[in-house]
Amino acid sequence: MIDDPTPHASAAPLGGLDLDPAGRERADALAARLDRHRASYYAGTPEISDAAYDALEDELRTVDPTHPVLSRVGSAPAVSEWEKARHEIPMGSLNKVVSEEELKGWVDRCEELLAKDGHAPVRDALFVAEKLDGLSLEIIYRDGALAEAITRGDGDVGERITANVVRMRGVPRRIKERRPISVRGEIILRRSTLESEPFFAEYATTRNGAAGVSRRFDGRGAEHLTVLFYDVADHLDFATEQAKFEWLRGLGLATPRTASGSLADVIALYRRYQEETRGSLDYEIDGLVISIDSLAAQALLGELNRRPRGATALKFASPAKVTRVVSIDWDTGPSGRVTPVATVEPVELVGAVVQRASLHNAANVRALGLGVGDEVLVSRRNDVIPYVEEVVEKRGAEAKPPTECPRCAQPIVVEGEYLLCRNAECPAIVEGRIHNWIGAIGALEWGDKLVAQVVRAGLVREPVDLYRLTVADIAKLERRGEKIATKCLEELRARLPVTLPVFLAGLGIEGFSTQTARLLFAAGYTELEKLQAATEPEIAAVPGLGDIKARTIVKGLAARREEVARLLAGGILPVTPEQAGPLAGVTFCFTGAAERPRAELVRLVEGAGGRVLSSVTKELKYLVIADVESSSSKAAKARKLGTVLITEGDLVAMASGAPPPARPAPPGP
Ligand SMILES: [Zn+2]
Repeated sequence: MIDDPTPHASAAPLGGLDLDPAGRERADALAARLDRHRASYYAGTPEISDAAYDALEDELRTVDPTHPVLSRVGSAPAVSEWEKARHEIPMGSLNKVVSEEELKGWVDRCEELLAKDGHAPVRDALFVAEKLDGLSLEIIYRDGALAEAITRGDGDVGERITANVVRMRGVPRRIKERRPISVRGEIILRRSTLESEPFFAEYATTRNGAAGVSRRFDGRGAEHLTVLFYDVADHLDFATEQAKFEWLRGLGLATPRTASGSLADVIALYRRYQEETRGSLDYEIDGLVISIDSLAAQALLGELNRRPRGATALKFASPAKVTRVVSIDWDTGPSGRVTPVATVEPVELVGAVVQRASLHNAANVRALGLGVGDEVLVSRRNDVIPYVEEVVEKRGAEAKPPTECPRCAQPIVVEGEYLLCRNAECPAIVEGRIHNWIGAIGALEWGDKLVAQVVRAGLVREPVDLYRLTVADIAKLERRGEKIATKCLEELRARLPVTLPVFLAGLGIEGFSTQTARLLFAAGYTELEKLQAATEPEIAAVPGLGDIKARTIVKGLAARREEVARLLAGGILPVTPEQAGPLAGVTFCFTGAAERPRAELVRLVEGAGGRVLSSVTKELKYLVIADVESSSSKAAKARKLGTVLITEGDLVAMASGAPPPARPAPPGP
């Protein structure tokens, strides 16, 4: 054995340990899988769950703890047309801890190491920042101007996606710092945007949406993304993490939320985040970044494998538990998709008792081979909705998907991974259509529940029926009353007349968003009759559309011809934006955070005839901002150009016909 000349040990093994050939093969196979999954994860198309990925990584760590794949950060960027760019200072990564005990262990080790240098204990001066779950990037400013934006990639080389990043929210083109600086941030997608923007329908999570859209070659959707900043690479003279964050904020760069305090404070905060704060945020975080606040102490601690010792990611518990499937239930959604949900024996996950778990779609049920009685692993990770991850032990017969719609009993058709009900009169689909109309006209008082109620009561079958409802109709519904009824009906009337783009988007024709309607409008289709008479080639010639969209538009309009005729007969006549609404011809721009999702505010403006601009220009009449006294550069520029600063509340009032607020004139030059 000693003389065994097997080449594996000397022929440049990928890992650093001398393993037997079988161990070597296993380690490299695991490493190859990890590399592949890491690449798809960063491309926004993960094939396995984070938990499965972590499990593979743990396995590799057991087999070969020194394998280079374990110290690699991120992934090699996927092949694309984006230009590769090298980070001047590599973008590192953080070690992670997953429990309070491990966090204490980390602080103990830091203090042990620091004590050797005669440094005092640090557990009473820790700094906390939310750990965002998005796509990391570096932004370089030179002479106060945004010069480059590069994704993290593998930590050394990323992609220069500057063209997209300049269109994202929270990214100033100019800052007051003239020295060349490299700031680090995270591109995130808000939950509310993922839910409300049809554009993001294809993305399962905010992280996939942020990663996918950031790197689109056509730049579409970038304006819906936000960048938050958390670091600066250059060694400026900050004493603490806290000072560094204050400096970032002073430059007008938004940061994740932060706190500072003792180890006990951090643990209390961690518990609060797990129990409530995390779920209440409009963006996903997967943990907290805990740092030794003193940057001098951090420098003493140094780094190992490009991971600083003086900071760690405290990840949230992501529990999964085994339980038993009691039943598999199918229901039809607003798009006509028939999806399965598992009812399971009650099990506690993250402080909540779980009894129902998502099964995504019929193909997934088939892939899992799932049946009633099976033991399954149910988890509740980044999602609010728990889902069945895998079958732990097969006990029952495989479930058979239904052949009839559970809501209308019509035959179901199979389309790829989905089962679909195609019955236009199916109550589930009618609810979806009414919901779409309500969303398009921006009637904020109408919630999903009320829409479901009026449809289920048989009061509303298509949008025109909404305008025939009486106060008595709504008042007699469960948990409604005259007051709510009056308010909801008044709102419907206040949103009249609707503009043609809103009218068209409200019909909910497949692939027909407000954006599509706007493109058609801009191309001269300013009248309904003209659009209804248009042929596929004519529509396909509209800039921004194409053959496929043209087909769905022409087909969709033809299929809805009678529904449209009934709307017109009911007095719902679309008008050109200039004729319409209390905000007719008025321009708005949004900046900073708002209470309502941005998409909702845009619809509100457009529904009332106004226009939304993406930046502050001479053409802009109103800048909507949380603090009208703000001294941000955007606010200052707006004042200089004579733009009026208003709050979200002012806008909502104006959209209902209230006069604009009286604000003191901006101070003269
Ligand atoms: Zn149906």
